[in-house]
Amino acid sequence: MARHIVVLGGGPAGYVAASHAAGLGCRVTLVDPKPLGGVCLNQGCIPTKVLVDSCSLLEKVKRAKDYGLRIDGEISVDWSDLRQRASGVISTVGDGLDRLMSNRDVAVLQGRGRLLPGKRVAVEGYGTIEADAILVCTGSSAVWPAGFDLDRKRIATSDDVLDWPTLPASILIVGAGLVSCEFAFIFRSLGLEVTILSRGNGVMPFLDRDLSSVVLREMRKKGITVQTGRAVDRLAVSSRGVHAFAADEPMGAAERGLIAIGRMPNTHGIGLEELGIACSDKGHIPTDDYLQTSAEGVYAVGDVNGRAGLAHAASAQARVAVDHALGLTCEPLNESIIPTAIFTMPEIGCVGLTEQAARSQGHAVECGSFDLRSLGRAHAMGEISGMAKVVADKLTHKLLGLHIIGAHASEIVHEGAVLLQQGASVKSIASTIHAHPTLSEAVLEAAEDCLGQATHKPLRRRAIVNDPVAVS
Ligand SMILES: Cc1cc2nc3c(=O)[nH]c(=O)nc-3n(C[C@H](O)[C@H](O)[C@H](O)COP(=O)(O)OP(=O)(O)OC[C@H]3O[C@@H](n4cnc5c(N)ncnc54)[C@H](O)[C@@H]3O)c2cc1C
Repeated sequence: MARHIVVLGGGPAGYVAASHAAGLGCRVTLVDPKPLGGVCLNQGCIPTKVLVDSCSLLEKVKRAKDYGLRIDGEISVDWSDLRQRASGVISTVGDGLDRLMSNRDVAVLQGRGRLLPGKRVAVEGYGTIEADAILVCTGSSAVWPAGFDLDRKRIATSDDVLDWPTLPASILIVGAGLVSCEFAFIFRSLGLEVTILSRGNGVMPFLDRDLSSVVLREMRKKGITVQTGRAVDRLAVSSRGVHAFAADEPMGAAERGLIAIGRMPNTHGIGLEELGIACSDKGHIPTDDYLQTSAEGVYAVGDVNGRAGLAHAASAQARVAVDHALGLTCEPLNESIIPTAIFTMPEIGCVGLTEQAARSQGHAVECGSFDLRSLGRAHAMGEISGMAKVVADKLTHKLLGLHIIGAHASEIVHEGAVLLQQGASVKSIASTIHAHPTLSEAVLEAAEDCLGQATHKPLRRRAIVNDPVAVS
């Protein structure tokens, strides 16, 4: 059993690895030059969700009259208070992580770590420490290509937004992935003119197409402009603002620009070469099913290995890597069923295969869907935009994917994750009583629809077996 585990990086991969290993009785040293929590807590998942939650409340308050409520006076956004709220949440959660590490006797060294041959790590300001196993959890950073005049004030990445003292009147967002789309809804809700510049045909191409159409429809309804089909290769600042170009053709201008075109792994200067660990073309650290690198006893976990790029996937990998390093019985993760939560407005929860991916993998596919607008609860909440979609194998009825867009989708999706984990049939959903009135009823109805007829959907012609017209 590995007795001393050294973890480089204190994000969702690193701190979870440290906590898990310490809980199993190991001596653990956690190394990070920055406050614990990584990108997730300090710039990513948590601060963006603070903004999303304030914006959702703002949107609701603006519609107070629809709910039979009267709110007198001006409703306005105080950006400085909003930033302060985000900082408050970050410190509260960060303090909790510090206490957790101290409770588990994890030695936290605030410095940059570098791998040395012979399972040793040099830590800035602390010297060299020896380990029985090392976990590299150094995460990722925002990408910005040459040609983008990143000054973090007028042209920025998601890391910089909460440092802005003021909000601009307009913004160009380069990229159409998850981070771009979340920020597009946030900024629009805060009153900015928002333009997304996407090099593809739409937004979030990894989504089931039915869901990405709803996202585009909601963007249109809210006045977010989406320009597709051309890749921005230059983003420049002038006295009049920020200008985007594709092959020297102007693509748009705004007061500020946000670059959200992807993330690159933090592998530079951490000593990989000295251990003979070669990175992939995209710079990630290759790992086996147990997250071990080509160097025995050295693991790479989280964004740095390029397997998933999600905080909860990083944490799940961390537990597997620790168990493996300790020689405990463990199974590789089933990476095909990692749920994704996307906090657009409305939000998205999806897990498993999209209809398009299932077809391209050769499945005979059957799908069912149900619009939230047909649910009483959605009307009571005033949140009728969205749908649930179930993807199943036509021959076996095995559930292949669940995709939801609508209020609380990020919570509801876990029903699908559990069933996919169990290899269940779509009939498991249809035969499970779902409480009324809830938004989860959309999942039940989508499953029924997949099997032939949803209770609250107009009858399908082909399902009317007793129809005298059809029989004659
Ligand atoms: C704007 C935004 C929103 C996001 N929203 C979500 C979301 O809603 N849900 C979700 O699942 N994911 C989200 N993500 C992705 C999520 O943040 C990452 O997948 C997650 O943080 C990865 O965790 P990690 O531990 O691998 O790396 P990180 O969180 O990047 O942490 C790596 C840590 O390693 C440290 N480090 C780097 N080099 C060294 C070194 N040499 N020595 C020691 N320490 C080092 C860094 O200081 C950092 O603290 C979002 C990302 C962004 C940018």
